[in-house]
Amino acid sequence: MSGLNYLGQLGRKWGRSAPRQLYRMLKLHRTSFNTILQNMFTVLEETSGRFTFPTIAAIAKMRPELVKEIVMEGHEVASHGFNHVRYTSLSKQARRHDLLSSLQVFKEIGIEITGFRAPYDNYTDDMPLLLEETDLIWDGGFGYRVEHRDKTHFFHESLNGQQSRVTYIPLNSWSDDVMIDRKGMGPDLVTKILKQEVTKAAPTGGLIMFDLHPIRMGQKKYVGCLKGVIEHAHNLDAWCTTPTEAVKYWKTHGKWKSDSKFCLLLTGDIDNWVFSDYLRRVLWRRKTR
Ligand SMILES: [Zn+2]
Repeated sequence: MSGLNYLGQLGRKWGRSAPRQLYRMLKLHRTSFNTILQNMFTVLEETSGRFTFPTIAAIAKMRPELVKEIVMEGHEVASHGFNHVRYTSLSKQARRHDLLSSLQVFKEIGIEITGFRAPYDNYTDDMPLLLEETDLIWDGGFGYRVEHRDKTHFFHESLNGQQSRVTYIPLNSWSDDVMIDRKGMGPDLVTKILKQEVTKAAPTGGLIMFDLHPIRMGQKKYVGCLKGVIEHAHNLDAWCTTPTEAVKYWKTHGKWKSDSKFCLLLTGDIDNWVFSDYLRRVLWRRKTR
């Protein structure tokens, strides 16, 4: 795909605010990813919360030690594709190649991957069939579609009359980019919104999943929001775990661990380590492999 196409994609997503978004990302990337992850690990440890990081494989490859550290800290890494491109803009063959190459990268790093979220939460209708070809057990992006995002339980797709093997997880629409970049919310308001959504999820007995990107939520300014939402969820008797744990437990027991009332799944995609990765993705052509 050409650099112009990338600019086109960016333009479509942010319209005329594209330069502003570049500047925002530049500012955010002044904090190193090591610091971002450390900030998050500290808060998650304090609150006994677990977090899942769908990570772009081309990025993971550049710093495998950081990806391994996430797992060693007791959190989960999932695939976020090989390159950060809209799967809807790729041919069926290219999508398949991107997904399978991403899984191969994590295998080479030595990390078991059981979950997936497509870049930009953007799925073609045939993606569920493609996911069936893999060993993945959950998907955390298809559930962002309007018809799924307000669901309160795992769901399966019907494929040629059969229920998918892959478990799909609804994804809440309150993401950090919506709250912070688009609506300009400060940490207090972000925490308030997240807590409100968790409160709504509690009586359903089901689950709630957020996409809270580390690049924003791991900043000193916002990392306390994670603490706030986990503590609130625990007070309402939630199990704050990883999608893999949640899916496996639910499949076996049909309820949540320790008879928790509901389940909170905190996830956040890692799209870039440094600003230059971001810039390269936006401006220049990148080969799939
Ligand atoms: Zn992403």
